[in-house]
Amino acid sequence: MLRRLALGTAFALVVGAVPPVVRAEAGNVQVDKVQAEPPAATIEEPTTPAEAVGNSGDDTPAPKPSRARRRRGKSRLHGRFVGRVVPDDKLRKEPLQRPSGNLKIVSAANPGDVASVNIYNDDGSYNVDALEDLNHVLRCRRTDAEKPIDLQLLVLLSHVYDHFGGKPLEIVSGYRNQRKQSSNHFKGRASDIRIAGVSPKKIEAFAETLDRGGMGIGIYPRSGFVHVDVRSPPSYRWTDYSPPNSNAAEKRPPRGWKRKKLES
Ligand SMILES: [Zn+2]
Repeated sequence: MLRRLALGTAFALVVGAVPPVVRAEAGNVQVDKVQAEPPAATIEEPTTPAEAVGNSGDDTPAPKPSRARRRRGKSRLHGRFVGRVVPDDKLRKEPLQRPSGNLKIVSAANPGDVASVNIYNDDGSYNVDALEDLNHVLRCRRTDAEKPIDLQLLVLLSHVYDHFGGKPLEIVSGYRNQRKQSSNHFKGRASDIRIAGVSPKKIEAFAETLDRGGMGIGIYPRSGFVHVDVRSPPSYRWTDYSPPNSNAAEKRPPRGWKRKKLES
């Protein structure tokens, strides 16, 4: 009974009062700090352009806050990156119902890497084995490092999975053990996804309906995926036209990281 209560509370927090819970889990001390830096309207997503571009490497030049303005100006000129803060009246008002909990994800880089699970136990608590399976597929594909993925993000992914009729979500990028530690990918609360037969536009549009405040959603038309993250408000949206596969330095593993596979 007590346990149920506790779980219920946790669940309510996760689903309802979105931001706070996950924060604690992702160890976001520095998160908020980072996100506070940019004056909301400009750089919104310090982690955005570069980090999110997640395909294989993609994207834009190093995203230092001080370059925000320049990058923005640039994007106007070249149309590479366009982003905006989401006003409150564009956010979802109604509480988000619980998804089925079903979720099938497949690594885009390695299709043999699959997790097909339900994130919930019958009593509504999270299924630990399921979470581990998901964390494994969402691991850093450069270093194979795993990190517990934000539960709130997994709930959102289950909603996406439900909505599109149970087609597997292809994971272009999940956790990234990367140099740029302000990235939501590094924090385990972002994933870049696509779904066979579903346009990124549709995924983006549906993801937006889930946002009660505290989501980042970016679309990458040239790479064909959608970035979804959970973050401290404000919510943010962007389009990034940068080409796939630029191996941005901030996405590379931290300095000093040893390439296990080459050593063995
Ligand atoms: Zn991303």
